[in-house]
Amino acid sequence: MTANYHTHTARCHHATGTEREYIETAIMRGLKLLGFSDHCPQFFPTDDYYSHFRMRPEETDGYIKTLTELRHEYRDDIDIKIGFEVEYYPEIFDKLLDFLRPYNLDYIILGQHFINNEYDTYEHSTGKNHTAEQLKIYTSQTLEAMRAGKFTYVAHPDVFYFDGEEKLYESEMRRLCEGAKTLGIPLEVNFLGLSEGRHYPSERFYRIAREVGCDFVFGCDAHSPDAVMNEDTYKKVCDFAKKLDITPLERIDLVKI
Ligand SMILES: [Zn+2]
Ligand SMILES: [Zn+2]
Repeated sequence: MTANYHTHTARCHHATGTEREYIETAIMRGLKLLGFSDHCPQFFPTDDYYSHFRMRPEETDGYIKTLTELRHEYRDDIDIKIGFEVEYYPEIFDKLLDFLRPYNLDYIILGQHFINNEYDTYEHSTGKNHTAEQLKIYTSQTLEAMRAGKFTYVAHPDVFYFDGEEKLYESEMRRLCEGAKTLGIPLEVNFLGLSEGRHYPSERFYRIAREVGCDFVFGCDAHSPDAVMNEDTYKKVCDFAKKLDITPLERIDLVKI
């Protein structure tokens, strides 16, 4: 693995470490490409909701400026890409793209952490006791996001927690994977989930994705510099991939928004 496209920074308010620390760790551990995809600012349609786990809009300039300078400074050692991890909230997605376009980002990845959105209902994708209806909403929303044609890949596509009817999970995740396959969008095997023993990456999900013939990419989802190509986690991810006969892409095509 010589490229990682899923990296956060302290600017999202729940990660630690400066951009420089992430870059130096990446170089030290042999990466040739490091993509930053911190949690994107969002413009909510309501004043009574405020997000504490993403960059604020006014912090965006600093993020872009810092990374642009570091990209130049480290250009002989590593290829730095500048992007965001973005939720797909249909109601406010176009406005977000309008905000992001002037920054000339290299890419964005999809991280669908909420069902519907976070400002009306606040139902986290990782929550327990999800209904069949919520599973279908998650699947449809993720598919709609992919069809928007702006996302380079789907981070932790299996982030949705479901312990209901197995058959329904299979058919919905097959629907998601078939969409990704048709659109040529890679699915990420998420290091953070594995290192923290979360329900993702999920074997049952990747069995389906493998059967469908999806493309895969490894993503550190680093929330601290040490999580960039962490050796223990990388070993675990390799075991996981081997068991499921998954081969990740070494490089992916970045989609311009
Ligand atoms: Zn995060
Ligand atoms: Zn992430």
